[in-house]
Amino acid sequence: MAGEIRYQRKEESMSDATIIDTLLDTMAPGYGAGGVLLPALLGALTLLLLHHRHQMKRHRERHRQSARDLAVLSDHDALTGLPNRACFEREAAQYLQRHSTALMVFLDLDDFKLINDSLGHRVGDQTLQVIARRLRQMAGDAALVARYSGDEFVLLVPALADGETVAWADRLLAIMRQPVVFNEVELMLSSSIGLARWPQDYKAPCDRVECLVRSADLAMCEAKRAGKNKVCSYHSRLLLVQNHTADIAARLRRLDPDKELSLAFQPRMELATRQVRGAEVLLRWHTAEGEQISPASFIPVAEETGQILGLGYWVMEQACKALARWPVQDDPLVLSINLSARQLMDVQLVDRIEALRERYHLSAAQLEFEITESSAMGDMAGALHVLGRLRARGYGLSLDDFGTGFSSLSHLRSLPVDTVKIDRSFVCNLENERLDRVLVASIIELAGNLGLRVLAEGVETLDQLALLDSLGCDEVQGYFIARPMPEASFLETLVQRPDSAPA
Ligand code: C2E
Ligand code: MG
Ligand code: MG
Repeated sequence: MAGEIRYQRKEESMSDATIIDTLLDTMAPGYGAGGVLLPALLGALTLLLLHHRHQMKRHRERHRQSARDLAVLSDHDALTGLPNRACFEREAAQYLQRHSTALMVFLDLDDFKLINDSLGHRVGDQTLQVIARRLRQMAGDAALVARYSGDEFVLLVPALADGETVAWADRLLAIMRQPVVFNEVELMLSSSIGLARWPQDYKAPCDRVECLVRSADLAMCEAKRAGKNKVCSYHSRLLLVQNHTADIAARLRRLDPDKELSLAFQPRMELATRQVRGAEVLLRWHTAEGEQISPASFIPVAEETGQILGLGYWVMEQACKALARWPVQDDPLVLSINLSARQLMDVQLVDRIEALRERYHLSAAQLEFEITESSAMGDMAGALHVLGRLRARGYGLSLDDFGTGFSSLSHLRSLPVDTVKIDRSFVCNLENERLDRVLVASIIELAGNLGLRVLAEGVETLDQLALLDSLGCDEVQGYFIARPMPEASFLETLVQRPDSAPA
């Protein structure tokens, strides 16, 4: 009996051979041969059987566990531990069957790519984990939360009263805005959120979950368009916006540049001399149907579809042609041309600019290129290479819309630009907002210390102009000086200079 107890205790760790060996050992000296041999053998067989049964049970249990692990893995996102898209779609379908009302929330982090690109994917991954935890906490147990893809998350939460929905979503925005801290570095994040209500924003007969996610996604895109860090609710007009974008893309493909496109020139005035030293070139599109489409509408679409490359070269060629036909002066005019992210990534960019400059017998100093921080951030290393090549050849470079978007003062140091263009959102309230005055004064001082020139955009009043002058701003541009105008009008303003420039 003592032997049996011992075997049972040890059985977990014993192999079949060990059991037989141990049994034979036990039988030989203590029990002798003959009379005790048969019962001992029977005992050994029983033990072997027990052992096998136990092994089988463990095997089955292990098999079941790995099947469970597999199901968890295929249902969950490995990085954040949240349910994945497939799991969410399945559970959300059941949720909508059980609940007569609900709120679908689509959340996309703003400029997340910049975090990945500038701070590395490890920080990017950790950020997503923090965001996932915050969402889980905020949503509560009654909600479904999932990582939809990349930096997109979806939530299906119990419906709230109309007023409460907005307050809830604003709270969610505020939670997303709380800094994420890594190694004492504070990362400021924001997100854009789209909301769709079940059943009000659902259109039969399409799939319920698919339809609500699409509606919330459309609303989220509207929040991005409205300047990010915002909440937007779905409304049927959003479908029109989507169609409008597709329509613009189709019309851009059919566009005849020489018939429908033109350039507008907006003078840039030097404050010290009150003289116009050049102009920013702005693209204008009058469609064959007689409609004028603003660059704010068609440039982002052209960026998305890649058509910006063709448009951009058209602009550059027209700008070079204009410079070449203007009267020769001691101090040649400078034209500044906007470059978008896609253009900065074009490997032919520098060579094609050089070819145009040579064809029209211009000096590099007559051309300046405007980039924004976000256009450079997409592929910082590539952008730095292209900008470095342009700078080395003598082209001017400016940082457009400074103060919006990522706005890092360190970019002023790392990007090889010679001019900073302060965004008009800081200029428009300069007379009334003390904080804006402090910010503009600091940018001007900092840029000055780094040897950069400063241009203020969107100057609309004499008071703004006077303030900028007193703060030491180098150049101004805006409706107060002149609106963007056709080439002939621009040349006329030049004839009148310098006395006609506003004092
Ligand atoms: P941007 O480069 O910041 O150009 C300045 C915009 O502000 C222009 O709008 C201009 O008309 C407007 N603006 C100038 N002064 C004032 C002012 O005093 N008050 C107000 N309210 N607005 C003022 P526009 O022409 O509609 O262009 C919008 C944007 O489209 C440009 O912003 C630029 O980012 C883009 N864009 C325009 N032409 C081109 C182009 O040829 N290529 C590329 N890639 N982008 C372009
Ligand atoms: Mg510009
Ligand atoms: Mg600008």
